[in-house]
Amino acid sequence: MKVVIVGGVAAGASTAARLRRLDEDAEIIVLEQGNHVSYANCGLPYHIGGIIKKREALLVQTPEKLHAALNIDVRIRQQAMAIDSDRKSVTVLDHNSGKEYTESWDKLVLCGGGTPIRPPTPGDEDPRIFTLQSVSDMDRIIEAMDSDTRHAVIIGGGFIGVEMAECLVERGLQVDLVELGEQTLPFLDPELAHELEGHMIRKGVRIHLQNQVTVFHGEDSQVVCELKNKERIATDIVISAIGVRPSMELARTAGLEPGSRGGIVVDKHMRTSHADIYAAGDAVEVTDLVTGSPCLVPLAGPANRQGRIIADNLCGRPSTFAPVQGTSIIKVFDMTAACTGANEKRLRSEAIPYEKAYVHPPGHASYYPGTASMHLKLLFSPADGKVLGAQAVGFDGVDKRIDVLAVALRAGMTVYDLEELELAYAPPYSSAKDPVNMAGFVAANILRGDAPTWYAEDFTEHRTQGVILDVRSAAEYSQWHLPDAINIPHTELRARIGEIPEGKPVYAYCHSGFRSYLVMRILKQSGFEQAFTLSGGVSTFHSFTNDSCAGTRRLPEINYGDDKLVEMVQASGKQVSLDATGMQCPGPIDALKTTLEQLAVGDDVIITANDPAFVSHLPSWCRSYGHQLLEIQNENDNLHVLIRKGLTV
Ligand SMILES: Cc1cc2nc3c(=O)[nH]c(=O)nc-3n(C[C@H](O)[C@H](O)[C@H](O)COP(=O)(O)OP(=O)(O)OC[C@H]3O[C@@H](n4cnc5c(N)ncnc54)[C@H](O)[C@@H]3O)c2cc1C
Repeated sequence: MKVVIVGGVAAGASTAARLRRLDEDAEIIVLEQGNHVSYANCGLPYHIGGIIKKREALLVQTPEKLHAALNIDVRIRQQAMAIDSDRKSVTVLDHNSGKEYTESWDKLVLCGGGTPIRPPTPGDEDPRIFTLQSVSDMDRIIEAMDSDTRHAVIIGGGFIGVEMAECLVERGLQVDLVELGEQTLPFLDPELAHELEGHMIRKGVRIHLQNQVTVFHGEDSQVVCELKNKERIATDIVISAIGVRPSMELARTAGLEPGSRGGIVVDKHMRTSHADIYAAGDAVEVTDLVTGSPCLVPLAGPANRQGRIIADNLCGRPSTFAPVQGTSIIKVFDMTAACTGANEKRLRSEAIPYEKAYVHPPGHASYYPGTASMHLKLLFSPADGKVLGAQAVGFDGVDKRIDVLAVALRAGMTVYDLEELELAYAPPYSSAKDPVNMAGFVAANILRGDAPTWYAEDFTEHRTQGVILDVRSAAEYSQWHLPDAINIPHTELRARIGEIPEGKPVYAYCHSGFRSYLVMRILKQSGFEQAFTLSGGVSTFHSFTNDSCAGTRRLPEINYGDDKLVEMVQASGKQVSLDATGMQCPGPIDALKTTLEQLAVGDDVIITANDPAFVSHLPSWCRSYGHQLLEIQNENDNLHVLIRKGLTV
C-alpha cells in the first residue's frame, strides 16, 4: 500500500507515525510545503514571548529523525498542487527546484490544516503585518522585533490573539488588541470573557471591542492602523490573528465538496466522498456532540486523534471519530479560562432548551494559601439534567474542573451525577465539596425546585416588579449594593422578616449565591411563595455588567441611574500610600474607606493589594461614593491602584 499524506504537522504526522506502527510494509510519503514537520505550533507564541527559551524545543521531529525511526519518506518544501482522483495521483511543486512532478497513491490523506483569514484591507501589504501559523512565521516575527520595537497591534481576540497579547506584554511591548466582536475569546459567554478582559486591561493591554482596522498607513518608522471609529494607532508591528478557515483548494481539485461550514466533509471513519481519500484536522467538518450540527474545531487534540483513526482504517481497523465537544483552555497572564461543550450563545442559537448555574468556589480550600474564587458556569438540560456545557475562569484549579466536566459531558452524565462524583481532596488541591460537586448541587437544586433562581440579566425587569433583597452584611451593603435593594443580613432575617413587603416576588442576592439561597429557603417556608436567589450573586452580576474592567461599564450598556456622577476634581497634590497586601476582600475596600475618610477632596491614595477580587469590586464602589478611579497597575502580582477622593462621600 502506497499512502501519500499532504501536510506534515498535527494530523499528518500523527497519521504517518501510527500507520508505520501498524504496517511495517506500507510506503508512506509525507508532503509538507513548509520548512518543518511535526512541530509544536501551539508553543509558537510562547517562544516569541521568551517563555519557551529554546527554539529547538518546538521542533519535535525532523525529516531525518522520522526516516530513521519510522522509515517515512518526509519531503519538506513540497507543495501538493492538484489531485487527479481518477488516476490516483497528485501533482507536486518542489520549492527547492521550482519543478513539478507527479506522485501516485493508493490512498491519499489530506491534512493541510487551515489558512489564516486576512480580509483585504488597504495597506495590508506592509511587511510589518504578520500572521502566526508556522515556525517560519514565528522566525519572521522575532526577526522583525529589536530593542526599538515598543508597540504591537493585535487584530483578533481569539486564542492566538490573546496568547500573543500576553506574550508581547511579557516581552515588554505596549499592546493594543482590536476585536470586531462584542467580546474577546468567543468560546466563552460574554460575562466570563469580561473577567479576562478586565484582567488583560489591568495587565496593560488596551482592548478595542466592536472595532476593526479599516486601513494601514505604512509610514517610515511605524504602521498607523486606522480603526473603524477613526482612532489611529501608530505601531511597530501588527499580528493578524483573526482565525483560520479550512484549506479547501486542493480538496476542490479532487472534486471533494465543501460542507455547510466550509470544511471537507468526512464520515465517522474520516473518509471523504472519495473512497480512497481521507482527511483530518483543521480542514474537516466534524459533528458537535451537544448540538449534533456540523462544526469546525481547529484544535490540536481532535487533529491528532483523527490522524490515528485514519491510520487504523487504512490498516483495516474500522475505528471511528466521536463527535467533538470543543474542550479548550487558555492562559491569560496568571488567569486561566477553559470550556467544554456548548456555551449559552450556541444553545440559544440552536434553540436547545437549557438551564444554567453559576458558582464561585475557590480553586482549593480557602484557608490554605494561594487560591482565589473561580467563575464556574454550568449549562444543563432542564428535561433530564444532562450536562450540556461548562465554562470556568479563574486563577487556580480551572483546568482540572473543566477536564472533569468534559469527561462528565462525554459520558452523558447529569447534574445529579456531578453531586455524587468522588474527587480527590486535600486542602492544597480542592475542598471536601469540590467545585464540580458544588456546581452539581446548585444545578440539581434548581431542577428539583429547591432553589428558584434569578439571573443578573433580568435585574431591570425584576427591579420594577419585585423586592430586591440584599442579604449580605451591613458593611458589604454600604460598600456597594444593587439599586433599590433593601438590606437584611441573612443572620437577621428570621427576626426581621416582617420588614419584607408582602405580595411581591422577592429577589434575594448576596456575594456569590450561598447566603441568598439560605434566605430563599427561609422565605419559602415562611409563606413567601415567590422567593428567588441570584445565581452567582454579586460576583456574577459584576461580570455581566462588566464592572471588572477598570472604571468602564461597556457591555451591556446598563445604567441603573443611581451611580453618583463622578465629578472630576482637581488634584490637591497630596498623596498617601496604603498597603493592603495580604488582605482578603472586603478588607482592602474597608481600609481604603477609612483612609479616604481622613483625607480632603482632591487627595490621592495609592493602595497596593494582591486580592484580585479587590479590583473587581472597586469600579462600582468608586462610582457609588463619587471617587475617581484613576489608574490600575500590576507589578509582580501586586495591584497598585490610584484613587482620588471625590465630592460625594
Ligand atoms: C500559534 C498557534 C497556537 C495554537 N495553540 C493551540 C493550543 O494551545 N491548543 C490547541 O488545541 N490547538 C492550538 N492550535 C491549533 C492547532 O495547532 C491546530 O488545530 C492543529 O495543528 C491542526 O492540525 P492540522 O494537521 O489540521 O494542521 P497543521 O498542524 O496546521 O498542519 C497543516 C500542514 O499542512 C501543510 N500544507 C497545507 N497545504 C499543503 C499542500 N498543498 N501541500 C503540502 N503541505 C501543505 C501546511 O504547511 C501545514 O504545515 C494552535 C495553532 C497555532 C497556529
